[in-house]
Amino acid sequence: MVAEAVYETPDTTTLELFTGNDHLDYKPGHFLTIDPHQFEALERFTSFLEDLKGKREPPRAYSMASAPHEKYLAVTIKEERYASGATKYPPLLSPLLVKNIVRGMRLVITGFTGPYTLPADISSKTDHIVHVCAGSGSVPNFSMIKFALAHHPAIRHTLVYSNKMWADVIFRADLAKLAAENPESGDFEPTSGHPAPGRDAGG
Ligand SMILES: Cc1cc2nc3c(=O)[nH]c(=O)nc-3n(C[C@H](O)[C@H](O)[C@H](O)COP(=O)(O)OP(=O)(O)OC[C@H]3O[C@@H](n4cnc5c(N)ncnc54)[C@H](O)[C@@H]3O)c2cc1C
Repeated sequence: MVAEAVYETPDTTTLELFTGNDHLDYKPGHFLTIDPHQFEALERFTSFLEDLKGKREPPRAYSMASAPHEKYLAVTIKEERYASGATKYPPLLSPLLVKNIVRGMRLVITGFTGPYTLPADISSKTDHIVHVCAGSGSVPNFSMIKFALAHHPAIRHTLVYSNKMWADVIFRADLAKLAAENPESGDFEPTSGHPAPGRDAGG
């Protein structure tokens, strides 16, 4: 059940999920999947796109934004756009998850899996991790950073994170808070390469 929908940026929402007493056995970096067929509101679009593409629409993968030691389970979804002439089909699931899911709604998730995880013995391998991310690609790394700060405090983190605009930076306040709470583990220095006129160059 959706316990909270947190609007991170204009096109990105974090869904905090309440899963009852289920044991949440996942690693930082793992993803879950959400099958679009479960949403009645998408039924026509799903069938139409399946006819056009000639194949069944697969479940979509979403990395966990939460870390295993945290009380809640969360995924963070960025809305895909349809650009006339550039994208082949309109995106199916992400617009619904970002804009139309509200607290109390129920959805079926499947998980957890994926090879992109923080190894359990990471402390014996390195004392500095450089995370290189763009857009919603920061989601699994956000989970890894939170988990590593709690369980491997000797490791420093450098996050190189690219976005089109400052307003697109997901977890900006959370990252600044983590950096302030863990001054030994990393520097938080938002920088802007070439801010275009009219864009928010703050930070
Ligand atoms: C391991 C993994 C983790 C992920 N984690 C996240 C995450 O944390 N957050 C997040 O926001 N996203 C994540 N994603 C992306 C996510 O799974 C979806 O791909 C994304 O939300 C778009 O889904 P959609 O249904 O909205 O769009 P889709 O309907 O899948 O369409 C997306 C684009 O693909 C094109 N397209 C679709 N089908 C075809 C086709 N048959 N031929 C040609 N072009 C096609 C469409 O035109 C459109 O431009 C992850 C993906 C993977 C694989």
